[in-house]
Amino acid sequence: MIEGAPLPAVTEDSAPFWEGTARGELLMQKCSSCGRLRFPPRPMCPRCQSLDDEWVPMSGRGTVWSFVVPHPPLLPAFAKLAPYNVVVVALDEDPGLRLVGNLVASPEGPINEIDPETIRIGMPVRVVFQAAGEDIVLPRWMPA
Ligand SMILES: [Zn+2]
Repeated sequence: MIEGAPLPAVTEDSAPFWEGTARGELLMQKCSSCGRLRFPPRPMCPRCQSLDDEWVPMSGRGTVWSFVVPHPPLLPAFAKLAPYNVVVVALDEDPGLRLVGNLVASPEGPINEIDPETIRIGMPVRVVFQAAGEDIVLPRWMPA
């Protein structure tokens, strides 16, 4: 948890995702008509326009699709942690499902504990979870 960091807004569409992370599960929205997975959560399937969906658990495995090391100006809550990484992870189930997070060396570790020089595009990662504030548990990533 980073004191003073902004937290995601939970919406009607995204609530099942956050209920999943609170239980230690990475869930994705799946179209009940054509079976396509989608993220971020939204009411309609982009492939078949169905409004019917379900939430299904993922393996929690993926690869680093891209990453950055943010430079100043940074939000005050993050400035003292620089340099740190922000990764975009493509999930194994569908590389089109991409989540933004931090690569860490331990589930509760700080976001600056991995040397950015060691991060590589395509490196395998697995999800871990950390309570980030009231009612929000964030997915984060560790080398697999
Ligand atoms: Zn569909």
